[in-house]
Amino acid sequence: MMTAQNGVGSTRPSLSFEFFPPKKPEAEVLFWETLDTLMPYRPDFVSITCGAGGSRQAGSGALVRQVRERTGLTTVAHLTCVGASRPTLTEMLNDYQECGIATILALRGDPPRNDPPGALEQGAFRYAEPFVAFIREYFPQFRIGVAAYPEGHPETADPSVDQLHFRRKVEAGADFAVTQFFFENDVYFRFVSDCRAKGVHIPIYPGIMPVTDFKQLKRLSELCGSTLPRWLTERFEAIRDDPEKMRQAGVRVAVAQCRDLLRRGAPGLHFFTLNQCVVVPQILEELVGEFY
Ligand SMILES: Cc1cc2nc3c(=O)[nH]c(=O)nc-3n(C[C@H](O)[C@H](O)[C@H](O)COP(=O)(O)OP(=O)(O)OC[C@H]3O[C@@H](n4cnc5c(N)ncnc54)[C@H](O)[C@@H]3O)c2cc1C
Repeated sequence: MMTAQNGVGSTRPSLSFEFFPPKKPEAEVLFWETLDTLMPYRPDFVSITCGAGGSRQAGSGALVRQVRERTGLTTVAHLTCVGASRPTLTEMLNDYQECGIATILALRGDPPRNDPPGALEQGAFRYAEPFVAFIREYFPQFRIGVAAYPEGHPETADPSVDQLHFRRKVEAGADFAVTQFFFENDVYFRFVSDCRAKGVHIPIYPGIMPVTDFKQLKRLSELCGSTLPRWLTERFEAIRDDPEKMRQAGVRVAVAQCRDLLRRGAPGLHFFTLNQCVVVPQILEELVGEFY
């Protein structure tokens, strides 16, 4: 799925870029600049993240449509079901369908931190699995992507239990998965191999997080349960006050990770761009030729 869209008969690995909806006008300029900078790499798709809950996703919906209209790229809409009713989700899916969006990354999402306790139970779907089943049943024409967690999801203590939940989500109708970021490729390949052993055969695209701001990365990794290996922490702590060295090291680390992933058979790369236009092209320039 989603390979070979960039040229008839092409067998290049999939390439995709994830963006988030910018909030301020200057961030909006950077968003479009980043998108323009990345377009020449002919991504198989770009995806736009969304907030949690129905009304909080309105900005993402408009942006998804704009990106598709302006670039003609396959644009994937992230859609979270947490706290949202069936009618709200149905309306959003109808809107996407009407404007030609063909792929949804179906997520549960997390209730915003200031939501009252119990917010998770208030939506129509408690987990992504029944949401995927709902989309599959009522909107069969959508391609559906889901999230995967090679190190397990922080809410489920036992990663092998999380893998069973992942399998159920796939059985409910997912066509592909994108992983949370990780830095040890063995963890990804072990996860994929465990999934294959459990009968999961969809493509599982590794999510790549280039390191540009180590402080921010530490916060993120705590939130989403991605381990920062000791070698990585030591390397970036040593240059924490030098943004240029940090950026260069971030590119080196990502290039090595991506090269190893693709050489060992990963089906593609999904970059969390953080709407930054500088580092991802620098990483890709080193992969062009061998893989792209
Ligand atoms: C590539 C990617 C993109 C993302 N994009 C966004 C985004 O745009 N917006 C956003 O808000 N968040 C996004 N997220 C984060 C995601 O919403 C959170 O990680 C969220 O906590 C889980 O969503 P999920 O769809 O993976 O949930 P689920 O698959 O439902 O899993 C959530 C937890 O519930 C457990 N679980 C599942 N089913 C059951 C069951 N039947 N019984 C008990 N436990 C169960 C799972 O093991 C897991 O611990 C993204 C994550 C990834 C990896």
